[in-house]
Amino acid sequence: MSQVFLGMPAHSSPGVGALRGDQTFPQAARTALADPQLRRNLGHATGTIRAKRLAVVSELDDWEQLRLAGQAIKAATMARLDDHLARLEQEVTARGGTVHWARDAVEANRIITELVQATGADEVVKVKSMVTQEIGLNEALEQAGIAAWETDLAELIVQLGHDTPSHILVPAIHRNRSEIREIFLREMPGVDPDLTDEPRRLAMAARSHLRRKFLSAKVAVSGANFAVAETGTLVVVESEGNGRMCLTLPDTLITVMGIEKLVPTWTDLEVFLQLLPRSSTGERMNPYTSMWTGVSPGDGPQDFHLVLLDNGRTAVLADEVGREALHCIRCSACLNVCPVYERAGGHAYGSVYPGPIGAVLTPQLTGVEQNASLPYASTLCGACFDACPVRIDIPSILVHLRARHVEEYAAEHRLPSAESLAMGAAAWVMSSARRFGFVTRTARLGRVLGRRRGRIRSLPPPASAWTATRDVPLPPTETFREWWLRTRGES
Ligand code: SF4
Repeated sequence: MSQVFLGMPAHSSPGVGALRGDQTFPQAARTALADPQLRRNLGHATGTIRAKRLAVVSELDDWEQLRLAGQAIKAATMARLDDHLARLEQEVTARGGTVHWARDAVEANRIITELVQATGADEVVKVKSMVTQEIGLNEALEQAGIAAWETDLAELIVQLGHDTPSHILVPAIHRNRSEIREIFLREMPGVDPDLTDEPRRLAMAARSHLRRKFLSAKVAVSGANFAVAETGTLVVVESEGNGRMCLTLPDTLITVMGIEKLVPTWTDLEVFLQLLPRSSTGERMNPYTSMWTGVSPGDGPQDFHLVLLDNGRTAVLADEVGREALHCIRCSACLNVCPVYERAGGHAYGSVYPGPIGAVLTPQLTGVEQNASLPYASTLCGACFDACPVRIDIPSILVHLRARHVEEYAAEHRLPSAESLAMGAAAWVMSSARRFGFVTRTARLGRVLGRRRGRIRSLPPPASAWTATRDVPLPPTETFREWWLRTRGES
């Protein structure tokens, strides 16, 4: 066991993997908004989960105290993350597991591929792992001739549909029942040709497909919801039982986990096991909670590896405001309440982490300039903060990242952006009562442009960039100052 992080830099280089889209958020969102079926699916699914969550959360008198406790535990854990990680490594190793440190996606994929190859297996079953999507593990394994089978029902739908996830918890939220039936009929070997879109029949088809994989696979790859540093225990919470199969049946288990996922003690875990299921699936308790500590002789996998992934996380930790994003327990409550996510869907974010948490986590993992449109993918309404079980102040982080973007852009470009020119002009006008009065009076002339429709639909450049996506209300016939003078006089 090493007490220092051999080979780990002070903080990482930018994260790589499935964290960048081909398009900016506004471009991708425009495509999504033009798909009425997608919007119907999203509206229905997020509305259902929102209602379930509200019902179970309102049952608890101490919900706000639990949120405060979760927030405090996460903040304290991050303040001593290095100590807790060293303790985790010590405990896992002492109980027969092997810990691997991965700087980034490339290193993690290499480690995992070599571990699988060492077993001689040519296939793995997978469970509960957003982080393996982040690093693009399936593609890396495929290049090495190893097939990776997703076993979460929604992940299976995404995989068979040659699709990408669009939600943290419900990756196939953009699909409805009849679309899923078509995917199964097209892609699932040996499926009943008379399969209907009844949920029970779809689940039965998936179960019989997966059962064969569970029984044949010698290696499983999992994520982890939590790791308890004081004992080296890994925790996976899930609803379908596929996790229990993956975590117990194969000979070798490889768990990949972001370094932020740990909690120091079992007492801390108690708080999160109350917060997570209520916030994610709207359940009082999730059906399956699997915990394992190293290797137990004669019981479960006899070869256990834990891959601890940085991939940009230590860079996030270095940002005093932005580091709060590492407190996330991936419940997805912020996605389900977000008016932007509900309309644009997850693919528009271009990252494996969509929605409000994706808008603050992804740009920090990759470097803000690599995902500069994401901090603007929000109305700053604050619904995400109200829903978040660990009280992550997402709106404040969004504003902070917008400021970082402006500063980084200014540092890298000799010419100011159109936005900073506009803001500079606005600051000049607003810093003088005389100038401000003159401009607001002059703006009245703009009424000519919108007198037929009652609003201004387009302005000449450069203001045309603003009116390209929104109308401008007609300037009032009387300014506030004129109204004040008329009604209150000089007083
Ligand atoms: S930011 Fe909060 S609400 Fe959103 S997924 Fe993370 S823990 Fe859940």
